[in-house]
Amino acid sequence: MAEDIPATNSKFIFITGGVVSSLGKGLASASLASILQARGYKVRLRKLDPYLNVDPGTMNPCQHGEVFVTDDGTEADLDLGHYERFTGVPAKKTDSITTGKIYQRVIEKERRGYYLGSTIQVVPHVTNEIKNFILSDTHGEDFVLCEIGGTVGDIEGQPYLEAIRQVAYELGRERTMFIHVTLLPYIPTAGELKTKPTQHSVKKLQEYGIQPDMILCRTQIEIPANEKLKLALFCNVREENVITAMDAPSIYQVPLAYSAEGMDRQVCKHFGLAYDQPTDLSKWQHIVNILRSPEGEVRIAVVGKYMMLLEAYKSLHEALIHGGIANHYKVKIKWVDSESLEQDRVDEILNDVSGILVPGGFGLRGTQGMINAISYAREHKIPFLGICFGMQMAVIETMRNLSGIKNANTTELDENCEPVVGLMTEWNKDGAKQIRHKDGDLGGTMRLGAYDCVLKPNSKVAEIYGKKTISERHRHRYEVNIKYKDILNKAGMVISGTSPDGNLPEIVERPEHPWFIGVQFHPELKSRPFEPAPLFVSFVKAAIDNSRLV
Ligand code: GLN
Repeated sequence: MAEDIPATNSKFIFITGGVVSSLGKGLASASLASILQARGYKVRLRKLDPYLNVDPGTMNPCQHGEVFVTDDGTEADLDLGHYERFTGVPAKKTDSITTGKIYQRVIEKERRGYYLGSTIQVVPHVTNEIKNFILSDTHGEDFVLCEIGGTVGDIEGQPYLEAIRQVAYELGRERTMFIHVTLLPYIPTAGELKTKPTQHSVKKLQEYGIQPDMILCRTQIEIPANEKLKLALFCNVREENVITAMDAPSIYQVPLAYSAEGMDRQVCKHFGLAYDQPTDLSKWQHIVNILRSPEGEVRIAVVGKYMMLLEAYKSLHEALIHGGIANHYKVKIKWVDSESLEQDRVDEILNDVSGILVPGGFGLRGTQGMINAISYAREHKIPFLGICFGMQMAVIETMRNLSGIKNANTTELDENCEPVVGLMTEWNKDGAKQIRHKDGDLGGTMRLGAYDCVLKPNSKVAEIYGKKTISERHRHRYEVNIKYKDILNKAGMVISGTSPDGNLPEIVERPEHPWFIGVQFHPELKSRPFEPAPLFVSFVKAAIDNSRLV
């Protein structure tokens, strides 16, 4: 083994993608992990992203989708959200890496003289750092699934393919498995599925010394038997390891579909594990049954600003679905671009929804529309949930429209405003003071990760959570200033959750409103289909009750 490569007993499954991007490798990886878990195995999922950003924290959500945040405060790719939702295993800092981070580590080591004067090269220094990431911090997991971002053939991905080839060489093929996710395009005029792009992609992998053990074929129609045979023969993969992955109506159907195709069985067989016993997927079946035949439907508006790419609201979307499942209802989301609410069309756009949610966001664009939506929810007694920026906007709405402080704002948008929401330069994390400067780095410097929040006794949130203290995940730079507490109280808004030292308002609510809550944290990040976020369950229920009144 190369120097400082950690010891581990786990088995490693590497998931690569071929032909095109957006094949849903993240979901495929999460689904495979969940069915292996259903067989009683302990799993962990990791994502390796070949881009040069140190983390996705500074990337535009309209380009790259949501930035997922872990308990330990890592800003990571949204696939980590799928991993957590499907397996319930909280992701950690050691589960997400990018080329930027890898190079940062290598260069830091080089500056410290760690390499003793060697010439630093992609092979072995960068590849060793990648291997180190793959093999480190395992804790008795039976399987560690590593998803390689991007598409085979990308220049950026090459060091990763070399690293995983070396891991397989060093651990042996009995402890490693390569799964290649590809697309079989359907040509309607010929009435045929095409296997050639997959063959080329596998050839490309073989050039890097990687022979896939399984191909997961994304397809719109069943793969005819002769095409499966052809794929198996030309890609050098056993026929039963050519797995069909058809488009599914719901992502929660995917584990059931993969298992029915024999995927977990074949993986167990590959590793020489018992594979004949059936997998108990009854809990997945249960949620799929609810999704297929809900007791009713409820429409909820999400008033946000990143509508050009709904992946920007991935966890939020899923948390609403989970809230629906818990209530045996289908949640229909009406995506509303907040800018469209800036003209006088608020009632026209929002009069058919039973709940209004204003999610997180950054920057000025669209904020007046969010404030208009909040006024509308407050005045029409429509259940309202404000998350992070949405909570800050709810406070500003009250200050401007009920407390008469017309220039109330956040210093994020106006330096000369009445700073109801201000830049946070100091706060406590695990007993230690965190200090930031106004002109400091943007990357990785927000208040990130899980923090405790103490709930006010007898408040709505205390009833919803059924606890005195909760822990939720944060990602923000600004915070409501506690000194406005009394003014807010007079305007009917109560601070019902704070940081344990009482200095940072984390939750606001309106006791006179049927359901009006704003939270500084992101409850959607911890919501899972089998463990829905309490705020979402309660919010969806309030929306259902509201729709029954209509
Ligand atoms: N832009 C706001 C802040 O930094 C809110 C961030 C968010 O909604 N995630 O505080």
